[in-house]
Amino acid sequence: MIESVPAQLRYVCSLAFGTRLHTRSLDRLVTALVDAREEFGAVGRDAAEALRGPVLDDTARREVQIRRFRKQAELAARTPYYGRVFAELGIEPRKLRWADLEALPPTPKEMLKADPDAFVPAGARPAFRALTTGTTGIPTTVYFSRAEFEATVVLGAISVLLARQVEPGDVVQLSVSSRALFPVMLAAQIAARVGAVVYQAGFVDPGHALALLAEKRSLPGHRPRANVLSTTPSYFGSLVERGAELGYRPRDFGVERIVLGGEIATQGLRDRATRLFGEVEYVEPYAATEIFGTGALTCLSGHLHFPVPPGLVEVVSLDGRREAEPGEPGTLVVTPFAPYRTTTVVLRYDTADVVRVPAEPPTCELSTIPATSHVLGKLARSIPHSGGWTFQRDVAEALETLEEVPLPARFGMRADRADGVAVEVVAREDDARTRRRVAAALERSVPLRGLRVVTDPASLEDPVLLRTDLREHSFSDFGTARLRPAEEAVPA
Ligand SMILES: [Zn+2]
Repeated sequence: MIESVPAQLRYVCSLAFGTRLHTRSLDRLVTALVDAREEFGAVGRDAAEALRGPVLDDTARREVQIRRFRKQAELAARTPYYGRVFAELGIEPRKLRWADLEALPPTPKEMLKADPDAFVPAGARPAFRALTTGTTGIPTTVYFSRAEFEATVVLGAISVLLARQVEPGDVVQLSVSSRALFPVMLAAQIAARVGAVVYQAGFVDPGHALALLAEKRSLPGHRPRANVLSTTPSYFGSLVERGAELGYRPRDFGVERIVLGGEIATQGLRDRATRLFGEVEYVEPYAATEIFGTGALTCLSGHLHFPVPPGLVEVVSLDGRREAEPGEPGTLVVTPFAPYRTTTVVLRYDTADVVRVPAEPPTCELSTIPATSHVLGKLARSIPHSGGWTFQRDVAEALETLEEVPLPARFGMRADRADGVAVEVVAREDDARTRRRVAAALERSVPLRGLRVVTDPASLEDPVLLRTDLREHSFSDFGTARLRPAEEAVPA
């Protein structure tokens, strides 16, 4: 069985470069991978490498990309929005070249938000309307067909098996917003397809989520406790903070892997979480509903690596005018390709997520896949000054290393004079020692011109919003008794 896996993977790669999805063949591959996993243990590195696709030199990569972009542009021409754009610019999608691609203005989030139906081509079969739960206001809509959903489940199953993100016999707790129905459905189907047990805990009170993680179960063929936790960094910060208050220790949990996505995950957060969960493995994929179908894997050096087949990923300079140079920050501009995306079609979608182009070509274990730095922040919250830029990550990384700052770090940041940044932050105390420690941590990476320390989050003037604030209620919120850890879980 195991011998046949790489051959099938090569087949998948050929499918991945095609423009049709063969869902049934892919589903058979998932079965083969699960069987191989059961018979021989984890899928080998060779197999995982095969799925990353052939190594392409720049010329070959650009050839694949422009061919697929052209195909996607032909589909886009059948949407009201791009039909109009192409007519105005005099672009003929069938003959589209790199120069035309570069002349095509990035599609801002506001356009998709204002009229999502204008991005659906004639002949599409929308079935699910996914609403984003981002922190930037009114949700954005993306439609998906049943075929996209089913194909994404099998591709997702292959991908999580190879990345060893979820394995047969795992017990997976999803601590994400229940309003994010489409990603929750996908995650649940993918985990179930792989042979794990999955449940949605939601953004409930952290005490409740911790009690679920600590629960002992006795399901045949599965872990006795949740061993995979999938959540956002800010909610994870809330769990770490509350877990410490409630006296939880690593022996109370069986968590082995934590999947963090949707926000900035700092080193300080991971370090401080060790006291609660012990040494665990972190997986930090980059994904967003609007660019679904594409996405990035993280390597051990902390890059985001974007596989070539599912979409074109560009980094555009922060003034929006050109491709960012090596070492320079820019926003991720993404075009998800068919067959991964055919219902809501976006070309050069501006995610407004800032990353940096690596100054040198990466030499990490995923170096054959195009890479950027991890996300530095949203463009709207990035601050230009005479010394360059300060991003949300610069501030969050500094603050979350400090015990004086409760997790997740709650702060605001703004330009102060022409050459620096003023920061406001929630700390446990607002005494002189705390202010000194916070200022010293920030000054290592931020040109700090002003600092305001408060103890109540409600006193922040202009806080950076966090997903953990999208709290969901449960009956136990009406009585605190059930929020305490089970008797045996509390250390004596
Ligand atoms: Zn890397």
